[in-house]
Amino acid sequence: MGGLDVKVRTKPCKWCGRPLKQGRWWRPKRYCNRWHAVKYRVVSVVANVLDSI
Ligand SMILES: [Zn+2]
Repeated sequence: MGGLDVKVRTKPCKWCGRPLKQGRWWRPKRYCNRWHAVKYRVVSVVANVLDSI
């Protein structure tokens, strides 16, 4: 966790934090898979709704 290798471009999954190898810099991966993207969106939408109540 401490020393990040700057040679390997990784970004943590926005949902689970797992490092994802970035194969294409023009299209960065932000999630492990589609479900994590869906979950992240659902949670953010629910959070927004709860926040606006
Ligand atoms: Zn994930």
